[in-house]
Amino acid sequence: MTKPSATDSPEHSGAFRAFIAQKGLRATRQRMAVFEAAKSISGHYTAEDLLRKARALDRTVSRATIYRALPLLVGSGTVREVDVGRDHKYYLAEAGGNAFQAQLVCEGCDTIVEVDAPFMEWYGKAVAAKHGMRPISQKLQVTALCERCQKRRAPRP
Ligand SMILES: [Zn+2]
Repeated sequence: MTKPSATDSPEHSGAFRAFIAQKGLRATRQRMAVFEAAKSISGHYTAEDLLRKARALDRTVSRATIYRALPLLVGSGTVREVDVGRDHKYYLAEAGGNAFQAQLVCEGCDTIVEVDAPFMEWYGKAVAAKHGMRPISQKLQVTALCERCQKRRAPRP
């Protein structure tokens, strides 16, 4: 997927810089390298993937930098955390849309497909309202098998 050229402007890190300043933190070279790395990866990635990418930009980025920067990236709306019930979380560059996202997760290879599911958000709100409750968060994940994994698991003739 090609990125819109607007994300390459010097202002694209503005929201992230503002967020960390608000936390009383500085936009260190290492943090900005993590930010740039997070912006540059397409699709879902793990903290380890992010570490590799950030180290390619700045060799002084440590694993601790990554784990401290991730909550800042999530908090500033730069990336979204995707928990599919594995030992590690996945991350994804925030696309900017606010449509409710559901995930299809392949059980065999952990391929994750994000799908817009605005009806789910509506459904959650409607069901909660029926019980006098206000939803705080909701998620829909479908565990599935991708085509490749289906073939791999098919019994041999
Ligand atoms: Zn698969």
